[in-house]
Amino acid sequence: MAENLDEKLNEVTVLKNYNIVVLRGDGIGPEIVAEAIKVLDAAGERFGFQFTYDEQLMGGCAIDATGEPLPQQTIDACKQADSVLLGAVGGWKWDTLPGSKRPEAGLLGIRSALGLYANLRPAKIFEPLKSASPIKDSIIGDQLDILVVRELTGGIYFGERGRCEKNGAPAAYDTESYSVPEIERIARVAFDMAMKRGKKLTSVDKANVLESSRLWRETVIRISKEYPEVELNHMYVDNCAMQLVRNPAQFDVIVTSNMFGDILSDEASMISGSIGMLASASLAGSSLGLYEPIHGSAPDIAGQGIANPLATILSVAMMLRYSFDEAEAADAIEAAVDEALRRARTPDIKEDGIPVVSTGEMGDLVAKLTAGE
Ligand code: NAD
Repeated sequence: MAENLDEKLNEVTVLKNYNIVVLRGDGIGPEIVAEAIKVLDAAGERFGFQFTYDEQLMGGCAIDATGEPLPQQTIDACKQADSVLLGAVGGWKWDTLPGSKRPEAGLLGIRSALGLYANLRPAKIFEPLKSASPIKDSIIGDQLDILVVRELTGGIYFGERGRCEKNGAPAAYDTESYSVPEIERIARVAFDMAMKRGKKLTSVDKANVLESSRLWRETVIRISKEYPEVELNHMYVDNCAMQLVRNPAQFDVIVTSNMFGDILSDEASMISGSIGMLASASLAGSSLGLYEPIHGSAPDIAGQGIANPLATILSVAMMLRYSFDEAEAADAIEAAVDEALRRARTPDIKEDGIPVVSTGEMGDLVAKLTAGE
């Protein structure tokens, strides 16, 4: 009897299951998220895991259904989940509502409710899209793949601010301040990312002028002792802004403060040349993360089947890599996107000689290639 049971248990393959809260949002959100889910399922089937999707409301659709951009039920579901996939929120219909009642208030609300203090923005050029980059081929070189890790919940955006008087004239101030634990935790995220990539980390600060930057640098150097395999260097933010366009291939992972990261991640991501290709992740230090394309809900093209789903598809590749440690599946999705770009294009990245396809056709193609067909 016992032997029979053992044999039976051996026959049953229990697949790993990941619970994902899905926030489709508004505008093109539902269209692009549908394609990303196709690709996740294809990756799961090939690499031996599966997903449970829990659909929740955020943004304009949540306002229409409940009167709130971020219902408590959505927050509770996200806190229970292994990860969160977001399309985009916002649209003309809700533009006249007061700030705290607008769809975009849901974005800030969910980031703070989940304690997402690390924002990851990759800037990668896919070979077939090289010509869309504003940077010359000779500068890009063979490969460009940078990850900007930005501190998201501290620094000057959250520091003390106010109006005052200076030399008898009206004045204003904002304060940049970082505590050691805040720097330690973002540094560890960045070192962990570097370990999963090229083992090279550039910490960006303004330590020649700012005391908060000197503390930043000291702390990053101390944390680097925990990661002897990672090569660490430091760069002033003004130099980094210049180096990103002069010699971007020198970077692997960049870690920096909230404000410097805000500016540098936009600069770095634009090297890739197309808003429909840019993914992002926000992490809370645990495996829970919020994954979303950096573009908005594009109400001007919603419902037409012409949106580019690749930024959202690349966001789920990040989810597999950073929340679930499924690097092989993430690599497969990125390789599938690269191949899909050689065979077809959505209208926003169309190129002579390559057929133009719809949102759904692009999703089907990437899913097929991810499945290894
Ligand atoms: P947007 O990113 O939605 O659109 C800018 C331009 O890029 C538009 O012409 C749009 O058609 C195009 N575009 C964007 N994504 C595309 C895609 N995947 N494929 C093809 N073309 C694409 O920015 P916007 O127009 O300034 O904002 C529209 C709405 O989105 C606003 O309500 C804004 O507040 C909101 N928004 C939301 C987020 C988010 O949910 N994270 C981010 C930014 C803006």
